[in-house]
Amino acid sequence: MDLRSFIRDVPDFPKPGIIFKDITPLLKSTEAFQRTIDSLAEPFRGNRVTAVAGIESRGFIFGAAVARALGAGFIPIRKPGKLPWTTRRHEYVLEYGSDALEIHDDAVAPGDRVLIIDDVLATGGTAVAATQLIRGFGSQLVGLATVIELTFLDPRTKLQGLEVHTLIQY
Ligand code: AMP
Repeated sequence: MDLRSFIRDVPDFPKPGIIFKDITPLLKSTEAFQRTIDSLAEPFRGNRVTAVAGIESRGFIFGAAVARALGAGFIPIRKPGKLPWTTRRHEYVLEYGSDALEIHDDAVAPGDRVLIIDDVLATGGTAVAATQLIRGFGSQLVGLATVIELTFLDPRTKLQGLEVHTLIQY
């Protein structure tokens, strides 16, 4: 199955010059969605992942399903001000603007083995912020998986030493 055919390019969204990778056709397809979740989880089976951390907001959709596929729990990494408990924060720069991510203070336990999931790996800024948050707990970061990788933005140079798995490359 060619997952690429389920990604819709939306030019100039959310601002001019950005080609937004719309994953909603992929989510809507029973087969494509199942294949995506299986393919995201596959390399990490046997890695004893205990928790999947999903990045708001599309990382929640894929992350929760991958957590279920791996028999792991789910940790939300959210935009500032959304989490109700005490949080840790990391500031970062992304393809269109700058932002910060937060995680609950008690989200990760010392023995956890964490896999990070998002929809798109673009500049890698968001992914780096998420890895810093997880590593800040001193727990094991097993890897990072995304549906789409924008290779022309060279995100992997920022993520050296980490197991990075992506399904569709542009
Ligand atoms: P970055 O930090 O530059 O790697 O950007 C990754 C984050 O921004 C992900 O959470 C994506 O959801 C979002 N993102 C960045 N670029 C795009 C794009 N071209 N299409 C859709 N989402 C994107």
